[in-house]
Amino acid sequence: MYDYLIVGAGLFGAVFAYEATQRGKSCLVIDKRDHIGGNVYTEEMEGIHVHKYGAHIFHTNSKKIWDYVNRFADFNRYTNSPLANYKGEIYNLPFNMNTFHKLWGVVRPEEAKQIIEEQKKAAGIVKPRNLEEQAISLVGTDIYEKLIKGYTEKQWGRSAKDLPSFIINRLPVRFTYDNNYFNDRYQGIPIGGYHRIIQNMLAGIDVRLNVDFFEERDQLAALAKKTVFTGMIDQYYGFRYGILEYRSLRFETKVLNMDNFQGNAVVNFTDADTPYTRIIEHKHFDYGTQEKTVVTEEYPMEWKPGLEPYYPINDDKNTQIFRQYKELADRETNVIFGGRLASYKYYDMHQVIGEALTTIQTELGE
Ligand code: FAD
Ligand code: UDP
Repeated sequence: MYDYLIVGAGLFGAVFAYEATQRGKSCLVIDKRDHIGGNVYTEEMEGIHVHKYGAHIFHTNSKKIWDYVNRFADFNRYTNSPLANYKGEIYNLPFNMNTFHKLWGVVRPEEAKQIIEEQKKAAGIVKPRNLEEQAISLVGTDIYEKLIKGYTEKQWGRSAKDLPSFIINRLPVRFTYDNNYFNDRYQGIPIGGYHRIIQNMLAGIDVRLNVDFFEERDQLAALAKKTVFTGMIDQYYGFRYGILEYRSLRFETKVLNMDNFQGNAVVNFTDADTPYTRIIEHKHFDYGTQEKTVVTEEYPMEWKPGLEPYYPINDDKNTQIFRQYKELADRETNVIFGGRLASYKYYDMHQVIGEALTTIQTELGE
């Protein structure tokens, strides 16, 4: 009999398992995939750490969380500075003075601000009601048309007019010449890959792979006093209030016989016609010097059962459904829910670690 059955060997499950073990509890971790790490899993190809489920850059403003992950791996000095490729024109991201200069020839911040203000006024936006209006009011119509509309509508499979504005608020808009994608104080990529972090967290803990909780839920739950569930919350409750929607992704990975394909780890293709949203060239996350390179094209697609659920669609309809599941979850005494799928949230890694540490503290104290 274990103290905890942990469903999901992703970041949430691994942090919970590690912390519970440190506090003298016994854990069994299961995952339906054939590897640990969930979506942060990295796999070696041609000596390069390939981010199997999309580019992952660790960033946080919290010293506590930064110190915490650094206990499990050393981090390099990588700073995410993606480029946008709009029909062959290259722009810096996030939106900053380099972007404004390339687009309008402006040199000083107040010139850029003036153009954005004029475009916002011309669009007649007073109080933004959706992603399109929010984007135009932040950066103007030119940037919206070239760098946001096509990318966003491919990514989400919906008109930018039907998407909540908070999605775009993740991106900084800066009136300095600074191409750092994140505002956070700490940033980097774990040397040796994310896999190493999870391996270190789960060292000495019982892990069973290729085990789907739903195929034998009663037997599995009976193995422990409590269950920690990091899978899809609607599935846990048999979809009784309806299915929570997601966007999924298809990754096409190729080994190329050249040492440098695109000169940057992340290039976003922001036009509507290119079917993928971005190309990741993995070696650049690690300043790799291998003879070959590995690139991954990322194709967004609608999620349906059987596909990987990547991005929750936090619109009104899904938020309403989630609320009902959350009410059930809050009443459970022997099941703890956590992580991005159980919380139905667009969580970054540092947020998942933060949530797992708070959960364990509530459960078992310091
Ligand atoms: P997951 O990693 O999804 O782990 C859940 C695990 O549970 C999975 O391994 C799954 O197989 C398992 N599971 C589910 N159901 C069952 C079941 N029924 N039985 C057994 N096992 C089950 N964050 C950043 O901070 N920086 C980034 O740059 C970044 N980039 C991202 C890019 C993409 C494309 C995506 C999709 C996410 C990105 N993230 C990024 C977010 C990051 O991936 C998540 O915050 C983190 O992986 C969530 O960890 P988790 O444990 O909550 O979930
Ligand atoms: N976005 C965009 N153009 C870009 C990059 C991002 O319009 O070149 C928008 C898009 O709607 C995306 C959101 O900003 O979903 C958040 O971008 P982020 O890079 O944070 O997405 P993630 O890496 O989480 O997929």
